[in-house]
Amino acid sequence: MSVPADKQPEPAPRSEADLRAPVTQATQALLLEAMEKTADGIGIYDPNDRIIYANRSCAEFFGMSPDQILGQSFAASIRHAYTTGKGVNVETDDIDAWLAMAFQKRRRQRYRSFQTDTRDGRWVQLTEQMTDGDYLFMFFTDITEQKRIEAKLQRLSAKLRFQADTDDLTGINNRRNFLRLAHKAQQRCRHAGKDCTLLLMDLDFFKRINDAYGHQMGDRVLVNISSALSAELRPYDVLGRLGGEEFAALIPEAGLERAHEVAERLRRAVEATVHSNEWPDLRVTLSVGIAFNAGAKRELDALISQADQALYKAKHEGRNRCKIGGASPE
Ligand code: GH3
Ligand code: MG
Ligand code: MG
Repeated sequence: MSVPADKQPEPAPRSEADLRAPVTQATQALLLEAMEKTADGIGIYDPNDRIIYANRSCAEFFGMSPDQILGQSFAASIRHAYTTGKGVNVETDDIDAWLAMAFQKRRRQRYRSFQTDTRDGRWVQLTEQMTDGDYLFMFFTDITEQKRIEAKLQRLSAKLRFQADTDDLTGINNRRNFLRLAHKAQQRCRHAGKDCTLLLMDLDFFKRINDAYGHQMGDRVLVNISSALSAELRPYDVLGRLGGEEFAALIPEAGLERAHEVAERLRRAVEATVHSNEWPDLRVTLSVGIAFNAGAKRELDALISQADQALYKAKHEGRNRCKIGGASPE
Protein backbone atom coordinates (compact mmCIF):
# COMPACT_ATOMS: atom_id res chain seq x y z
CA MET A 1 0.00 0.00 0.00
CA SER A 2 1.40 3.44 -0.80
CA VAL A 3 1.86 6.11 1.83
CA PRO A 4 -0.50 9.11 1.34
CA ALA A 5 1.37 12.08 -0.16
CA ASP A 6 0.93 14.32 2.91
CA LYS A 7 2.43 11.62 5.17
CA GLN A 8 5.63 11.22 3.14
CA PRO A 9 8.83 12.66 4.70
CA GLU A 10 10.09 15.97 3.32
CA PRO A 11 12.95 15.32 0.87
CA ALA A 12 16.26 16.78 2.00
CA PRO A 13 17.41 19.81 -0.03
CA ARG A 14 19.75 18.62 -2.79
CA SER A 15 22.94 20.25 -4.04
CA GLU A 16 23.59 20.72 -7.78
CA ALA A 17 26.11 17.88 -7.78
CA ASP A 18 23.48 15.58 -6.24
CA LEU A 19 21.03 16.47 -8.99
CA ARG A 20 23.29 14.93 -11.64
CA ALA A 21 22.93 11.16 -11.57
CA PRO A 22 26.29 9.43 -11.11
CA VAL A 23 27.48 7.88 -14.37
CA THR A 24 27.60 4.27 -13.38
CA GLN A 25 28.99 1.54 -15.59
CA ALA A 26 25.43 0.56 -16.36
CA THR A 27 24.66 4.11 -17.54
CA GLN A 28 27.82 4.16 -19.64
CA ALA A 29 26.76 0.91 -21.29
CA LEU A 30 23.32 2.38 -21.98
CA LEU A 31 24.84 5.54 -23.45
CA LEU A 32 27.05 3.48 -25.72
CA GLU A 33 24.11 1.36 -26.80
CA ALA A 34 22.07 4.49 -27.60
CA MET A 35 25.01 5.96 -29.56
CA GLU A 36 25.33 2.74 -31.57
CA LYS A 37 21.61 2.46 -32.27
CA THR A 38 20.68 6.03 -33.10
CA ALA A 39 20.23 7.03 -36.74
CA ASP A 40 22.01 10.29 -35.86
CA GLY A 41 25.75 10.42 -36.50
CA ILE A 42 28.16 10.64 -33.58
CA GLY A 43 31.94 10.81 -33.83
CA ILE A 44 34.82 11.87 -31.62
CA TYR A 45 38.18 13.18 -32.85
CA ASP A 46 41.23 13.31 -30.62
CA PRO A 47 43.36 16.49 -30.39
CA ASN A 48 45.35 15.27 -33.45
CA ASP A 49 42.09 15.13 -35.41
CA ARG A 50 42.00 11.32 -35.58
CA ILE A 51 38.69 9.51 -35.11
CA ILE A 52 38.60 7.61 -31.83
CA TYR A 53 34.90 6.84 -31.97
CA ALA A 54 32.35 6.73 -34.79
CA ASN A 55 28.95 5.10 -34.75
CA ARG A 56 27.59 3.45 -37.91
CA SER A 57 25.89 6.61 -39.26
CA CYS A 58 29.02 8.65 -38.71
CA ALA A 59 31.25 6.07 -40.46
CA GLU A 60 28.78 5.87 -43.38
CA PHE A 61 28.92 9.66 -43.63
CA PHE A 62 32.51 9.16 -44.79
CA GLY A 63 31.69 6.05 -46.86
CA MET A 64 33.23 3.59 -44.37
CA SER A 65 32.38 1.02 -41.71
CA PRO A 66 32.97 1.90 -38.01
CA ASP A 67 36.02 -0.41 -37.92
CA GLN A 68 37.46 1.05 -41.10
CA ILE A 69 37.23 4.65 -39.98
CA LEU A 70 38.82 4.21 -36.58
CA GLY A 71 42.17 6.03 -36.36
CA GLN A 72 41.65 7.89 -39.63
CA SER A 73 42.33 11.61 -39.74
CA PHE A 74 39.57 14.04 -40.71
CA ALA A 75 41.41 14.80 -43.98
CA ALA A 76 41.82 11.09 -44.82
CA SER A 77 38.13 10.36 -44.21
CA ILE A 78 37.08 13.29 -46.40
CA ARG A 79 39.45 12.07 -49.15
CA HIS A 80 37.91 8.62 -48.85
CA ALA A 81 34.36 9.99 -49.23
CA TYR A 82 35.51 12.09 -52.18
CA THR A 83 37.26 9.31 -54.10
CA THR A 84 34.62 6.65 -53.46
CA GLY A 85 31.70 9.03 -54.13
CA LYS A 86 30.01 7.85 -50.94
CA GLY A 87 28.69 9.75 -47.93
CA VAL A 88 29.20 13.49 -47.60
CA ASN A 89 28.99 15.44 -50.84
CA VAL A 90 32.40 17.05 -51.36
CA GLU A 91 31.70 19.26 -54.33
CA THR A 92 34.99 20.26 -55.87
CA ASP A 93 37.43 19.55 -58.69
CA ASP A 94 40.36 20.18 -56.37
CA ILE A 95 40.21 18.20 -53.13
CA ASP A 96 43.41 19.76 -51.76
CA ALA A 97 42.01 23.26 -52.17
CA TRP A 98 38.72 22.09 -50.64
CA LEU A 99 40.52 20.69 -47.60
CA ALA A 100 42.62 23.84 -47.24
CA MET A 101 39.38 25.85 -47.12
CA ALA A 102 37.84 23.40 -44.63
CA PHE A 103 40.85 23.70 -42.33
CA GLN A 104 40.47 27.46 -42.29
CA LYS A 105 37.24 26.93 -40.38
CA ARG A 106 37.79 23.61 -38.61
CA ARG A 107 38.63 23.84 -34.88
CA ARG A 108 38.60 27.66 -35.05
CA GLN A 109 35.45 27.86 -32.92
CA ARG A 110 34.56 25.82 -29.86
CA TYR A 111 31.10 25.25 -31.31
CA ARG A 112 29.70 25.46 -34.79
CA SER A 113 26.70 24.08 -36.60
CA PHE A 114 26.01 23.97 -40.33
CA GLN A 115 24.06 22.06 -42.97
CA THR A 116 25.59 19.77 -45.54
CA ASP A 117 24.34 17.20 -48.05
CA THR A 118 25.28 13.65 -48.95
CA ARG A 119 25.83 11.88 -52.26
CA ASP A 120 22.52 10.06 -51.92
CA GLY A 121 20.61 13.35 -51.68
CA ARG A 122 20.12 13.59 -47.92
CA TRP A 123 20.75 16.69 -45.80
CA VAL A 124 22.15 16.78 -42.28
CA GLN A 125 22.54 19.46 -39.64
CA LEU A 126 26.07 18.94 -38.37
CA THR A 127 27.37 20.24 -35.07
CA GLU A 128 30.96 20.29 -33.83
CA GLN A 129 31.71 20.84 -30.16
CA MET A 130 35.26 21.04 -28.82
CA THR A 131 36.18 20.05 -25.28
CA ASP A 132 38.71 21.84 -23.07
CA GLY A 133 41.19 19.09 -23.93
CA ASP A 134 40.75 19.77 -27.68
CA TYR A 135 38.74 16.66 -28.43
CA LEU A 136 36.12 17.37 -31.06
CA PHE A 137 32.64 15.90 -30.78
CA MET A 138 30.79 15.67 -34.05
CA PHE A 139 27.07 15.17 -34.11
CA PHE A 140 24.64 15.22 -36.98
CA THR A 141 20.97 14.61 -37.53
CA ASP A 142 19.02 14.04 -40.74
CA ILE A 143 17.05 17.10 -41.89
CA THR A 144 16.14 15.85 -45.38
CA GLU A 145 12.42 16.05 -44.66
CA GLN A 146 12.65 19.62 -43.30
CA LYS A 147 14.67 20.62 -46.38
CA ARG A 148 12.06 19.03 -48.65
CA ILE A 149 9.26 20.93 -46.90
CA GLU A 150 11.32 24.13 -46.97
CA ALA A 151 11.87 23.78 -50.74
CA LYS A 152 8.18 23.02 -51.27
CA LEU A 153 7.20 26.12 -49.28
CA GLN A 154 9.61 28.23 -51.31
CA ARG A 155 8.11 26.93 -54.56
CA LEU A 156 4.62 27.53 -53.22
CA SER A 157 5.48 31.03 -52.10
CA ALA A 158 6.99 31.83 -55.54
CA LYS A 159 3.83 30.49 -57.17
CA LEU A 160 1.62 32.60 -54.89
CA ARG A 161 3.72 35.68 -55.59
CA PHE A 162 3.39 35.01 -59.32
CA GLN A 163 -0.37 34.58 -58.99
CA ALA A 164 -0.71 37.76 -56.94
CA ASP A 165 1.19 39.72 -59.61
CA THR A 166 -0.35 38.24 -62.73
CA ASP A 167 -3.60 38.81 -64.53
CA ASP A 168 -5.38 35.43 -64.58
CA LEU A 169 -6.76 35.70 -68.09
CA THR A 170 -3.86 37.15 -70.05
CA GLY A 171 -0.81 36.19 -67.97
CA ILE A 172 0.64 39.73 -68.10
CA ASN A 173 1.12 42.00 -65.06
CA ASN A 174 -2.09 42.85 -63.25
CA ARG A 175 -2.91 46.42 -62.28
CA ARG A 176 -1.23 46.29 -58.89
CA ASN A 177 2.00 44.83 -60.21
CA PHE A 178 2.02 47.11 -63.25
CA LEU A 179 1.80 50.16 -60.97
CA ARG A 180 4.57 48.78 -58.75
CA LEU A 181 6.94 47.99 -61.64
CA ALA A 182 6.10 51.17 -63.57
CA HIS A 183 6.82 53.23 -60.46
CA LYS A 184 10.18 51.50 -60.04
CA ALA A 185 11.05 52.02 -63.72
CA GLN A 186 10.07 55.68 -63.52
CA GLN A 187 12.22 56.19 -60.41
CA ARG A 188 15.18 54.52 -62.11
CA CYS A 189 14.81 56.86 -65.10
CA ARG A 190 14.60 59.85 -62.80
CA HIS A 191 17.82 58.90 -61.01
CA ALA A 192 19.56 58.37 -64.33
CA GLY A 193 18.19 61.65 -65.67
CA LYS A 194 16.36 59.85 -68.51
CA ASP A 195 12.95 60.46 -70.05
CA CYS A 196 10.17 57.92 -69.92
CA THR A 197 6.69 57.59 -71.38
CA LEU A 198 3.42 56.13 -70.23
CA LEU A 199 0.93 54.70 -72.71
CA LEU A 200 -2.68 54.14 -71.71
CA MET A 201 -4.50 51.87 -74.14
CA ASP A 202 -8.17 51.00 -74.49
CA LEU A 203 -9.76 48.69 -77.07
CA ASP A 204 -12.34 50.32 -79.28
CA PHE A 205 -15.98 49.23 -79.17
CA PHE A 206 -15.03 46.11 -77.29
CA LYS A 207 -18.53 45.68 -75.95
CA ARG A 208 -19.62 44.94 -79.52
CA ILE A 209 -17.18 42.01 -79.71
CA ASN A 210 -18.80 40.41 -76.69
CA ASP A 211 -22.27 41.17 -77.99
CA ALA A 212 -21.57 39.81 -81.47
CA TYR A 213 -19.27 36.83 -80.77
CA GLY A 214 -19.86 36.01 -77.12
CA HIS A 215 -17.89 36.62 -73.93
CA GLN A 216 -15.59 33.62 -74.49
CA MET A 217 -14.47 34.99 -77.84
CA GLY A 218 -14.02 38.36 -76.14
CA ASP A 219 -11.68 36.68 -73.65
CA ARG A 220 -9.69 35.09 -76.45
CA VAL A 221 -9.31 38.49 -78.12
CA LEU A 222 -7.96 39.94 -74.85
CA VAL A 223 -5.40 37.12 -74.61
CA ASN A 224 -4.31 37.57 -78.25
CA ILE A 225 -3.96 41.30 -77.83
CA SER A 226 -1.88 40.91 -74.68
CA SER A 227 0.50 38.65 -76.63
CA ALA A 228 0.62 41.06 -79.55
CA LEU A 229 1.45 43.99 -77.24
CA SER A 230 4.10 41.97 -75.37
CA ALA A 231 5.74 40.90 -78.61
CA GLU A 232 6.18 44.53 -79.67
CA LEU A 233 7.83 45.64 -76.42
CA ARG A 234 11.35 45.20 -75.09
CA PRO A 235 12.01 43.11 -71.98
CA TYR A 236 12.54 46.19 -69.82
CA ASP A 237 9.34 47.92 -70.93
CA VAL A 238 6.54 47.34 -68.43
CA LEU A 239 3.18 46.12 -69.71
CA GLY A 240 0.04 45.50 -67.69
CA ARG A 241 -3.68 44.96 -67.90
CA LEU A 242 -5.27 47.65 -65.78
CA GLY A 243 -8.67 45.96 -65.96
CA GLY A 244 -11.35 45.11 -68.53
CA GLU A 245 -10.07 46.02 -71.99
CA GLU A 246 -7.66 48.63 -70.74
CA PHE A 247 -3.87 48.18 -70.86
CA ALA A 248 -0.88 50.34 -69.97
CA ALA A 249 2.80 50.37 -70.81
CA LEU A 250 5.67 52.27 -69.29
CA ILE A 251 8.48 52.79 -71.77
CA PRO A 252 11.71 53.72 -70.00
CA GLU A 253 14.38 55.83 -71.66
CA ALA A 254 12.07 56.86 -74.48
CA GLY A 255 12.03 60.36 -75.92
CA LEU A 256 8.75 61.68 -77.26
CA GLU A 257 9.44 60.67 -80.84
CA ARG A 258 10.32 57.11 -79.94
CA ALA A 259 7.36 56.85 -77.58
CA HIS A 260 5.05 57.91 -80.38
CA GLU A 261 6.64 55.33 -82.67
CA VAL A 262 6.13 52.60 -80.06
CA ALA A 263 2.50 53.63 -79.56
CA GLU A 264 1.88 53.51 -83.30
CA ARG A 265 3.53 50.12 -83.55
CA LEU A 266 1.30 48.77 -80.79
CA ARG A 267 -1.80 50.24 -82.41
CA ARG A 268 -0.94 48.65 -85.76
CA ALA A 269 -0.10 45.29 -84.15
CA VAL A 270 -3.53 45.19 -82.49
CA GLU A 271 -5.27 46.15 -85.71
CA ALA A 272 -3.42 43.40 -87.61
CA THR A 273 -4.13 40.62 -85.13
CA VAL A 274 -6.37 37.85 -86.48
CA HIS A 275 -8.40 36.31 -83.68
CA SER A 276 -10.32 33.53 -85.33
CA ASN A 277 -10.01 31.48 -88.51
CA GLU A 278 -13.76 31.15 -88.46
CA TRP A 279 -14.27 34.92 -88.45
CA PRO A 280 -11.22 36.45 -90.16
CA ASP A 281 -12.98 39.79 -90.23
CA LEU A 282 -13.08 39.91 -86.46
CA ARG A 283 -10.58 42.69 -85.83
CA VAL A 284 -10.19 45.04 -82.92
CA THR A 285 -8.61 48.46 -82.84
CA LEU A 286 -6.80 50.32 -80.11
CA SER A 287 -6.82 53.93 -78.91
CA VAL A 288 -3.69 55.14 -77.13
CA GLY A 289 -3.10 58.09 -74.82
CA ILE A 290 0.55 59.10 -74.48
CA ALA A 291 2.04 60.94 -71.49
CA PHE A 292 5.63 61.97 -72.04
CA ASN A 293 7.71 62.43 -68.90
CA ALA A 294 10.82 64.55 -69.53
CA GLY A 295 13.56 63.53 -67.10
CA ALA A 296 10.98 61.24 -65.48
CA LYS A 297 10.34 64.13 -63.07
CA ARG A 298 6.59 63.64 -62.72
CA GLU A 299 5.02 60.87 -60.63
CA LEU A 300 3.03 58.02 -62.08
CA ASP A 301 -0.37 59.36 -60.92
CA ALA A 302 0.14 62.59 -62.86
CA LEU A 303 1.19 60.63 -65.94
CA ILE A 304 -1.84 58.38 -65.76
CA SER A 305 -4.25 61.28 -65.62
CA GLN A 306 -2.44 63.03 -68.47
CA ALA A 307 -2.51 59.84 -70.58
CA ASP A 308 -6.17 59.40 -69.68
CA GLN A 309 -7.02 62.82 -71.08
CA ALA A 310 -5.10 62.00 -74.24
CA LEU A 311 -6.93 58.68 -74.53
CA TYR A 312 -10.25 60.48 -74.20
CA LYS A 313 -9.17 62.75 -77.05
CA ALA A 314 -8.22 59.73 -79.19
CA LYS A 315 -11.66 58.21 -78.59
CA HIS A 316 -13.41 61.50 -79.25
CA GLU A 317 -11.56 62.05 -82.53
CA GLY A 318 -12.69 58.71 -83.92
CA ARG A 319 -10.68 55.95 -82.13
CA ASN A 320 -7.91 53.72 -83.57
CA ARG A 321 -5.32 56.45 -83.07
CA CYS A 322 -2.57 57.67 -80.71
CA LYS A 323 -2.73 61.07 -79.02
CA ILE A 324 -0.14 62.88 -76.97
CA GLY A 325 -1.48 64.43 -73.78
CA GLY A 326 -0.81 67.67 -71.98
CA ALA A 327 1.08 70.78 -72.94
CA SER A 328 4.01 70.60 -75.29
CA PRO A 329 6.86 68.53 -73.80
CA GLU A 330 9.66 70.30 -71.93
P1 GH3 B 1 -14.89 52.40 -76.28
O1 GH3 B 1 -14.37 52.40 -77.67
O2 GH3 B 1 -15.55 53.67 -75.93
O3 GH3 B 1 -13.84 52.04 -75.31
O4 GH3 B 1 -16.02 51.29 -76.23
P2 GH3 B 1 -16.01 49.94 -75.44
O5 GH3 B 1 -17.18 49.12 -75.89
O6 GH3 B 1 -14.70 49.29 -75.53
O7 GH3 B 1 -16.14 50.46 -73.95
P3 GH3 B 1 -16.95 50.03 -72.74
O8 GH3 B 1 -16.21 50.51 -71.56
O9 GH3 B 1 -18.38 50.50 -72.88
O10 GH3 B 1 -16.96 48.46 -72.76
C1 GH3 B 1 -15.93 47.71 -72.36
C2 GH3 B 1 -16.35 46.28 -72.46
O11 GH3 B 1 -15.31 45.40 -72.17
C3 GH3 B 1 -17.46 45.96 -71.50
C4 GH3 B 1 -17.15 44.58 -71.00
O12 GH3 B 1 -18.18 43.69 -71.35
C5 GH3 B 1 -15.90 44.20 -71.74
N1 GH3 B 1 -14.99 43.50 -70.87
C6 GH3 B 1 -14.33 43.98 -69.78
N2 GH3 B 1 -13.57 43.00 -69.22
C7 GH3 B 1 -13.76 41.89 -69.97
C8 GH3 B 1 -13.27 40.56 -69.89
O13 GH3 B 1 -12.48 40.19 -69.02
N3 GH3 B 1 -13.67 39.67 -70.83
C9 GH3 B 1 -14.55 40.04 -71.81
N4 GH3 B 1 -14.90 39.12 -72.70
N5 GH3 B 1 -15.03 41.27 -71.90
C10 GH3 B 1 -14.65 42.20 -71.01
MG1 MG C 1 -12.97 50.26 -74.77
MG1 MG D 1 -12.57 50.81 -71.30
